[in-house]
Amino acid sequence: MPDLKTVLAEITAAMRAETTRGAVADYIPELRRVPLDRFGIAVVLRDGEEVTGGDADQPFSIQSISKVFTLTLALGRAGDGLWRRVGREPSGDPFNSIVQLEHERGIPRNPFINAGAIAVTDVLMAGNRPRETLAETLRFLRFVAEDDDIAIDEAVARSERETGFLNASLANYMRAFGVVQGDVEHVLGVYFHHCAIAMSCRHLARAGRYLAFNGRIPTLGAGIINPDRARRINALMLTCGHYDGSGDFAFSVGLPGKSGVGGGVLAVAPGTASIAVWSPGLDAKGNSLLGRIALERLARAMQWSVFG
Ligand code: GLN
Repeated sequence: MPDLKTVLAEITAAMRAETTRGAVADYIPELRRVPLDRFGIAVVLRDGEEVTGGDADQPFSIQSISKVFTLTLALGRAGDGLWRRVGREPSGDPFNSIVQLEHERGIPRNPFINAGAIAVTDVLMAGNRPRETLAETLRFLRFVAEDDDIAIDEAVARSERETGFLNASLANYMRAFGVVQGDVEHVLGVYFHHCAIAMSCRHLARAGRYLAFNGRIPTLGAGIINPDRARRINALMLTCGHYDGSGDFAFSVGLPGKSGVGGGVLAVAPGTASIAVWSPGLDAKGNSLLGRIALERLARAMQWSVFG
């Protein structure tokens, strides 16, 4: 097996030199300002060893990667009853698409497209005030990432709300069908704020350990969720974590992964490693272009694909 440090150093150098880097998300000004030349990667192994490359300690907007953590928390609250309000199938459509909602009576295809994540946020709130739900989400992330400084970028959250007409449409549409049950403005507020959480690759990779290691964080001796639930969240990441690019991600990388329009990707090699990569340039489907390429190289070099 090649040496992980050497592999990450090679990948980081290659990604730094790459000239085709995709395009930074431009739907809100705060994301548009992020320099395209950034690249970071972090890997955390079962024994707690952390190997990093590039800008691994620079926080970025985790955006839709937050949907993995809100799903974890909402399942903790509602159990499998959550699946009455959200499906488990890949959508084959862009992350903010509304078309399937009409055919499917307001039930979103999966928890990782925007509609699904908004419904999950509603489940997670369940009578709580927005501030309480956000505090719970931050508390969880600070614990699993072992970093008390993880915070919400308020400027990003504000812009999300100012430009979030499509997300408001999705939420209202689901409210009409009773899939979203709480106050639409409150649910959207929490959704925009959890998307606006900023984290570094190192902290994101730490946060993904419970998914990589059967629901536990081995070095903390902490059980976060049961192994069945971790396995299922990983299955959803593999099938739905990259929207209409999920098939291609599974084909080229072969690991469960969740992307965000900030350019981050959280990926897990079950039993072996939790991985986070960040390159803000996106491909046409809104997934990090170099993030995928870097993960493809890493999974191949270390033979970490779940498909053998
Ligand atoms: N906050 C973004 C949105 O709702 C998240 C999308 C994403 O990361 N794909 O549009």
